[in-house]
Amino acid sequence: MLRPRDAVRNLKQYHPPLGNRQGLRLDFNENTLGCSPKVLQRFRELDAEQFARYPDRDPAEKTVANHLGIDPGEVLLTNGTDEAIHLVCETYLQPGDEALVVVPTFSMYEIYAAATGARVVTIPAGEDFRFPTENVLEHLNPHTRFIAVANPNNPTGALTSQPDLLRIAKAAHQAVLLVDEAYFEFCGETLIPGWRELPNLFVSRTFSKAYGLAGLRIGVLMGSAEQMHWVRRVSSPYNLNEAALSCLSEALADQEYVRGYIADTCHGRDLLEQELRSWGVRYWPSEANFVLMHLGNLCPRFIGAMRERGILVRDRSADYGCQGCVRITVGTAAQNERLLVALREVLAELGLRETVAR
Ligand code: PMP
Repeated sequence: MLRPRDAVRNLKQYHPPLGNRQGLRLDFNENTLGCSPKVLQRFRELDAEQFARYPDRDPAEKTVANHLGIDPGEVLLTNGTDEAIHLVCETYLQPGDEALVVVPTFSMYEIYAAATGARVVTIPAGEDFRFPTENVLEHLNPHTRFIAVANPNNPTGALTSQPDLLRIAKAAHQAVLLVDEAYFEFCGETLIPGWRELPNLFVSRTFSKAYGLAGLRIGVLMGSAEQMHWVRRVSSPYNLNEAALSCLSEALADQEYVRGYIADTCHGRDLLEQELRSWGVRYWPSEANFVLMHLGNLCPRFIGAMRERGILVRDRSADYGCQGCVRITVGTAAQNERLLVALREVLAELGLRETVAR
């Protein structure tokens, strides 16, 4: 009988609930507006010749490096951040190693790390999902080879301070510290180009959120040129398709579009948090384009009632420490208006009352 490796047999399954997503998509932290029209225009101009050729990643890597003010040797474009995480795990982890993951967080760190046969050690977040820096430092040992931190974190929206991350990178010099900045655009804090001081630091970004290109799959992995050289060895030279590579420069060029979307979303996030406060609903202040809130056993009814109103939100109850929690992605001003109307109706229907005047 053909038998997968034990590490694979023991992997957790991750099935994002993608089926039947008719309605306002406030469930996956995606951009809810769509990408810049200039990107779509470029996509429509692609021709048969471009599809016939193997894609060349180099020009797009130079464009991204230039945009970020770093060297092309410090950049690897990836098939979404997911692939960046996968490649880092493949490059640095092996059976017998340890990977540290603070939970709750994005599931793929644990999955890709465990798939290598490394042992995944999960460390619970502190009170109010604060990053448990001291606890992470205490868990470091010579086997620790990979530490992943989403900053801001998903699903909590919490931001870890840069001094704390740098302390960890310094203390864990034999381990990769991967700082996943998928939601960077909504908070503006970055560790780029920290790897020049700390060569075990890697930073990743994505075009899936602020840029509205989750379907095209474009991620960016950054690190010291010396380390990126090894990661590149593991990567397929054709990991990004031609459509993604061709559209990328248009996406970067239209910063006005991205800035507008970010401003809209951050304002919407403030309004959503204010609304939750006025209803006395517990939530965690977010630095990303979503808000996590606690509804306890009202969760399923809340999600169902929102769905009836055509609004999709995400149950995060299965995440560590998130029992009874719902995560809502923030969209444009008009979408947020619709969200708040539905939210008020549903909270009232569930028996909640506004505790503070709006
Ligand atoms: N990192 C974090 C923290 C995320 O929340 C997500 C998406 N939910 C990803 C990475 C995946 O991003 P991508 O689409 O670039 O693979």
